[in-house]
Amino acid sequence: MAVGLDARLRDVVGAKTAAALDKGLGLETVGDLLSHYPFRYAQRGEQADLGSLRIGEEVTVFAQVRAAVPKPLPPKPPRPGKRAIKRDLLEVIVADEMGRTVTLTYFNQGWRAKELRPGRWGLFAGKVGQFRGRLQLNSPQYRLLAEDASDPAEAVEEFAGAFIPVYPATADLPTWKIGQCVRIALDLLEDPPDPLPAAIRSRHRLMGYGAALHQIHRPESFESLGAAKKRLKWQEALVMQAALVRRKAEAAVEPATPRPKGGAILEAFDASLPFPLTDGQRRVGAEIADELAGEHPMHRLLQGDVGSGKTLVALRAMLQVVAHGGQAAMLAPTEVLAGQHHRSIAEMLGDLAKGGELGAPMEATRVALLTGSATAAQRRATLEAVESGEAGIVVGTHALLYDGVDFHDLGLVVVDEQHRFGVEQRDALRSKAERPPHTLVMTATPIPRTVAMTVYGDLETSRLTELPAGRSPIATHVVPYTDQRWMARTWTRVREEVAAGRQAYVVCPRVGGEDTEDTGGGDDRRPPLAVTDMIEQLRSGPLHGLRLGLLHGRLDAEEKDRVMRAYAAGEIDVLVATTVIEVGVNVPNATAMVILDAERFGISQLHQLRGRVGRGSHPGLCLLVSEAAEGTASRDRLDAVASTTDGFALAELDLEQRREGDVLGAAQSGTKSHVKLLSLLRDVDIIEEARADAVKLIAADPRMRSEPAFAALVDDLAADRGEYLEKG
Ligand code: ADP
Ligand code: MG
Repeated sequence: MAVGLDARLRDVVGAKTAAALDKGLGLETVGDLLSHYPFRYAQRGEQADLGSLRIGEEVTVFAQVRAAVPKPLPPKPPRPGKRAIKRDLLEVIVADEMGRTVTLTYFNQGWRAKELRPGRWGLFAGKVGQFRGRLQLNSPQYRLLAEDASDPAEAVEEFAGAFIPVYPATADLPTWKIGQCVRIALDLLEDPPDPLPAAIRSRHRLMGYGAALHQIHRPESFESLGAAKKRLKWQEALVMQAALVRRKAEAAVEPATPRPKGGAILEAFDASLPFPLTDGQRRVGAEIADELAGEHPMHRLLQGDVGSGKTLVALRAMLQVVAHGGQAAMLAPTEVLAGQHHRSIAEMLGDLAKGGELGAPMEATRVALLTGSATAAQRRATLEAVESGEAGIVVGTHALLYDGVDFHDLGLVVVDEQHRFGVEQRDALRSKAERPPHTLVMTATPIPRTVAMTVYGDLETSRLTELPAGRSPIATHVVPYTDQRWMARTWTRVREEVAAGRQAYVVCPRVGGEDTEDTGGGDDRRPPLAVTDMIEQLRSGPLHGLRLGLLHGRLDAEEKDRVMRAYAAGEIDVLVATTVIEVGVNVPNATAMVILDAERFGISQLHQLRGRVGRGSHPGLCLLVSEAAEGTASRDRLDAVASTTDGFALAELDLEQRREGDVLGAAQSGTKSHVKLLSLLRDVDIIEEARADAVKLIAADPRMRSEPAFAALVDDLAADRGEYLEKG
């Protein structure tokens, strides 16, 4: 029997095993099973000397069987109505050339005594254990030398060096069982068609698909394993890039409602600005203005460090759309941020946000806020303003994505702080417009090149590289938590800032109280400091007499909003908060930030946090308080953050240190099952080359008609994303 990749596993490995593979790992076909790749390869231990075995070590020993004695064990007590199950233990004594011995044990495998006859030499591979003070190997794998072996040394080498695939396993399906199924499938597999375009395969000297499947599961050598991985990664990269490039190409020809440059409300706004635009704002603004005026939807990513003035760029884009009868929606990741955007947009617009009110300018519009916590009545009023088009600008959290939110004429979607949203959410909002709206995605998290190419591979990119003039530098220092003097100095600095009329943040990793949420990972360190405890300690201790405020994610929206307003109004001196203040919060009078247990935060997170200070005309100060000892990896990360404010450098470093899954987060959901081997970190070259090839491929043949097998893979990936969208 020969089988193809679409053969059902039940026809190949039997119904029972197939059911376990399906239930435990979601594998239904031979193709599914063969793309369940090993996550590592155990090498049988180097050949060990029987004189120097250490408990726990994986070893391979070359030895001769001296005796093999099956011993019956007391039977397992029978279950009612069943017969007792017989059990036995086979003990095999083997000795090396020096006569040193070790015992091998096999449970219920008495038949092996027929193979392991005294006098035979073999290699035995397993983990060294101990029983009653004697070293032993439990159920070691073995290969016996032919009784007439001409070159024992060669056999020894081959066996000891072999790769043993280790699979992601489940309780019911240990790795060796999966390996067994894979072997059966590979033995039956007829050479599968190769989905990669032949030209690309030969240009990059890629192994054929069938060979790659064999080599990734049962590598013949280190080299062939490398070649197999490269080939399979290439396929993943090319499918992903082709999907993104195609999506981009398709989006580029969709019709959009043109919103010409300028317009009364934008011109009035520009005239009212108290400062000149930075060069970057002008340049990026012009790019965006051109695209909004075009007949096809804009899909642009705007990167710029915290405080670089992205929001202003976005607002000007929104006004251009509003000036021509459209609406703009701004999607923010948290209620705090949505509330703040709403406030600051209304403030920046002044009278221009008072559309419909007496005495407001002709060109004025309204700015609506829609979050999950609005009361039913508020919500109804807001929805009406959105539906009638009265509200030109609508700010909200993902509540904006829900059904029941209808726009009069949605012309522009601005997504703030994109790393919290995925492609899918973007799509959900865009689907609320009759014609595809323009999309502007803003992120303050600098994005390493490969991530930009994959997660945002369907967007054009703009960057704001300089901060507005008059922006103040932020000095960052690491403070050892256990040093009393330094800690005292830290709180004195906070008091000095407050005495000078300014404000400060104190950030802790945890809320405290009943919560068990822990951002620091489950180890035996003390629990991370909590804002609810810290505020009490500070109030009665080093910050006695100052006006302290508390902000964290478990407060209800109204309370959060009240606290943020009070802080923005200068009625609170020191805000003790969790990372809810991480993104976008803007209080220019805040100049100092103390981050406690700083090593519990990621590099990018620290950088984001510190961007909350130094936003006004006074220099910022950020103190990273930590117990991490000098020379540890944690301390190195903090030192890195202290040493530079270059967000891009820090983002690259962050990517290196974090698990890629975290980096991609929701942004890649729906594509996960398609990217198994490819690493955004290590496979930069493959991703770049695949991108270039995908562009060429789709330019020459937009629907990839000449490569149906490859096109089918691209469709699969796109469909999985679509499915995620419906579920989400
Ligand atoms: P981002 O969203 O990129 O973090 P914001 O748009 O919130 O930055 O801008 C931060 C602050 O800088 C705001 O108070 C904003 O009014 C101010 N700002 C923006 N552009 C300029 C500029 N060209 N000159 C001076 N201040 C500016
Ligand atoms: Mg912002």
